[in-house]
Amino acid sequence: MPIQVLEPHVAAQIAAGEVVERPASVVKELIENALDAGAQRISVEARGGGLRELKVQDDGVGIAPHEIELAFERHATSKLRSADDLWSVQTLGFRGEALPSIASVSQIVCISRVAGEDVGIEIRIAGGELQGRMARGCSPGTSISVRNLFYNTPVRREYLRSDATELSAISAVVQQYALAYPEVRFTALLEGRLALQTSGDGDLRSVLIELYGIDVARQLLPLSVQAGEGLQAVSITGLISPPGLTRSSRAYLHLFVNRRAIQPRGVLAIVVAEAYHTLLMKGRYPMAVLDIRVHPGAVDVNVHPTKSEVRFQFHSRVHGILGRAVREALLEGAGVQTWADGVAPMEDVQRRFELRQIGQSRTAADNRGAAWGVGAGTWDTSSRWDTAHHGNRDMPVANQPAAADTQMHDVGNQEPGAEQILDHTPMPTSDPDLQSATLPPLRVVGQVGLTYVVAESPQGMYLIDQHAAHERITYERLMEQFGAGAVESQGLLLPQTVTLPPAAAASLLHNAEALAEWGFALEPWGEGMLRLRSLPSTLPLDDLQSALLELADYLAGRGGSTPIDWREAMLTTLSCHTSVRAGQALSLEEMRELLRQLENCTSPRTCPHGRPTMVLLTPHQLERQFGRI
Ligand code: ADP
Ligand code: MG
Repeated sequence: MPIQVLEPHVAAQIAAGEVVERPASVVKELIENALDAGAQRISVEARGGGLRELKVQDDGVGIAPHEIELAFERHATSKLRSADDLWSVQTLGFRGEALPSIASVSQIVCISRVAGEDVGIEIRIAGGELQGRMARGCSPGTSISVRNLFYNTPVRREYLRSDATELSAISAVVQQYALAYPEVRFTALLEGRLALQTSGDGDLRSVLIELYGIDVARQLLPLSVQAGEGLQAVSITGLISPPGLTRSSRAYLHLFVNRRAIQPRGVLAIVVAEAYHTLLMKGRYPMAVLDIRVHPGAVDVNVHPTKSEVRFQFHSRVHGILGRAVREALLEGAGVQTWADGVAPMEDVQRRFELRQIGQSRTAADNRGAAWGVGAGTWDTSSRWDTAHHGNRDMPVANQPAAADTQMHDVGNQEPGAEQILDHTPMPTSDPDLQSATLPPLRVVGQVGLTYVVAESPQGMYLIDQHAAHERITYERLMEQFGAGAVESQGLLLPQTVTLPPAAAASLLHNAEALAEWGFALEPWGEGMLRLRSLPSTLPLDDLQSALLELADYLAGRGGSTPIDWREAMLTTLSCHTSVRAGQALSLEEMRELLRQLENCTSPRTCPHGRPTMVLLTPHQLERQFGRI
């Protein structure tokens, strides 16, 4: 074949291969752009495994109307002027390659509005060609929808894995940024299901509660160091797992350099793992979220097309500081009893793990774990007043992996203090690596104070806030219905009139269309009065007035809110008003149903406001309280 220069669109597609490997890489680039634009809220939606549609919406600064086409040109960036700037990059992007690359292999709808402008602009691009442009009403910020990814590069498509695999890669990307930016509120809707939502309150631990559950998050040890100045400055902050809390994959090592995610396979991950030294068994890895900051001039971020690796100018210094910091955090953690209550001295921990490594006995002669809802021999099942009818549903069976897990960590009683350490290996579910945020099956014991449900599982005794739990359930159900395009509504045979302050009624009427999407059909009925023909089916009639008032308040307070704000307000208001209250007596059957539904939630351990739905008292904690150990 004679040599010839490639057609621009062919060259663009080849270049796109570097940046856009799979749907998750698109999500990564769009999230980075949103973060660079100063977004406080970022929502990610994926359909059809991310191939049919990926949408990232933010409330950042927006793109100026005259620049919006330019943003999709190759090497067009607002983040870099000269090559020297490369040594002081503060933004996640700087290559000006993401948008043109994505645009060359998909169909894009980009809508953006700068805060000062009256309206936004929408442009459509397919296969890199501009298809149309028009003015559009929208809230400030940017929304980029990427449809039919790789439609013009079928070979790429063939290399993709199943939808589920691609979705979990997308989810991992969102998690990664949620951990790096706890001050940003992330929402991920995958195939219409709420997969993740962080509060954006700036607290790393609350992101971890969301991702891994409160039991895991609570055990993590804080780490914080600062050393040097100027080019030599290094600061590291974050949380790391105590030695007993490990995972079988590196995927739980979240490392960031200057807020950029770093692959968990590189040198930094090795440095962290080595700091645990003998504390880790073979094939086990710690969990960590570490935010490493160095002077921008002392790190080269331009060594990898997706920037997931960096090169430090003073690498051995950074590695040394990192290793020592992890080591110290582990020792300190052992001293100040941050992991739950009782903590064994480091030598003990070490000795125990060494013992296990050389294959010491794992017999469970004194198997306390087994008494905890797993139905093993030591537990007198006949004394459980409700096992007769509900044994199988409420109680995990003895050979379930959860039970095996409990036993595995109980090394028996030859060594005093053995469980003391090993109890700190709580794996909340049967497969800890896969579903650590979900709940084990819970057995209802009763209700206290008409407010809390008491339940047990192999992990111990749970106190569950009935209102918070129900709020979570309703929230996720509504989210799902809304994602699927239809919030279930109940038509009223007799339309209901509601009297509200006139301003409230007016603002609700003004938003009647948006409210209709949530199942409300309302119309004016004289001064300050509304007539409702239908309402969301989750909302009880007697709560209608206060729910409407709350929504009107919301609308009055934040008039020009973004669609994300609005959706949040609807979801939280509706779930709060729908939910069982504190002070409400619940029958056993109702409590069982409540817990069953909670077990099915994506984020069962926090309510939509981010407060915990439950408190766990482990067998170990109880036994300590009673002086049994
Ligand atoms: P880079 O991020 O490397 O600059 P991109 O191709 O990702 O390159 O984006 C090109 C430009 O488009 C950015 O420099 C930025 O000015 C603008 N841009 C992209 N996404 C957004 C967004 N979500 N909000 C505001 N501006 C954006
Ligand atoms: Mg970018």
